[in-house]
Amino acid sequence: MKRSVQKVVPGIRQQEGGGFWVRRPFPTQMLDQVDPFLLLDQMGPTEVAPGEAKGAPDHPHRGFETVTYVLSGEMEHRDSAGNAGSIGPGDVQWMTAGDGVVHSEMPSSKFQQSGGRLLGFQLWVNLPRADKRMRPRYQELKSAKIPSARSKDGKAAVKVIAGEALGAKAAIDTRTPIFYLHFSLQPGARLVQAALREFNTFAWVVSGEAHFGETKVGEGRAAIFAPDGDEIEIAADVPAEVLLIGGIPLHESVARYGPFVMNREEELIEAIEDYQSGRMGRIGA
Ligand code: MN
Repeated sequence: MKRSVQKVVPGIRQQEGGGFWVRRPFPTQMLDQVDPFLLLDQMGPTEVAPGEAKGAPDHPHRGFETVTYVLSGEMEHRDSAGNAGSIGPGDVQWMTAGDGVVHSEMPSSKFQQSGGRLLGFQLWVNLPRADKRMRPRYQELKSAKIPSARSKDGKAAVKVIAGEALGAKAAIDTRTPIFYLHFSLQPGARLVQAALREFNTFAWVVSGEAHFGETKVGEGRAAIFAPDGDEIEIAADVPAEVLLIGGIPLHESVARYGPFVMNREEELIEAIEDYQSGRMGRIGA
């Protein structure tokens, strides 16, 4: 059975970090989360003038994961554990903040100087209660190392950041079962992707227009799928870029305060205290 689209929500324009604009399908007034996913932000697409690129200076996280995927432009990250690196076109950084990190996410000095096209995504993945205070970990994959595949007719290509598609299997390890697939569709593309009904699943249309069964969804909109089947039919009449993301819901209480996502209010207060007293570390310390 093919899954139907339960609802379609627009990405809402919102200002983040050091003053850059994002498009955010959730959380918004219309959609709080897609358990276990807490947030999706698309940065750009925008043409950044030399010297005008903005980022998110030093800030903490605890209790979840941030997944950064860049298609155009270059970000540089540094953190309280001494990690540093750049994330360029096609690269992924899957950061498990767990117990806590303080990091910065800024345009690289190269991109800052040259300016150029910026397009990227950040997904927040909630951690189950047992993993919220786990030791932080990083999984970084350069574009060339991300498993990819193409449909037999060549009209659909996929990059497999998590999970499995068109016979390709992800290199990244997730704490709970998750798939994160980037499909590039040419006109006439049509494919069926396994997405068991136990997986809360949504698609974000980055560009063009995609068809999910009967429902057409345009650029800058997210389709949330109903749990009425175990596969998703994706097709396109025009060139389209689509992120298809699914995960088994945690069904746990969510207490959020800015960069902290725990189960209970008391744990948020503890997180704020731990951050303020320096127990999550400092960059360059
Ligand atoms: Mn961050």
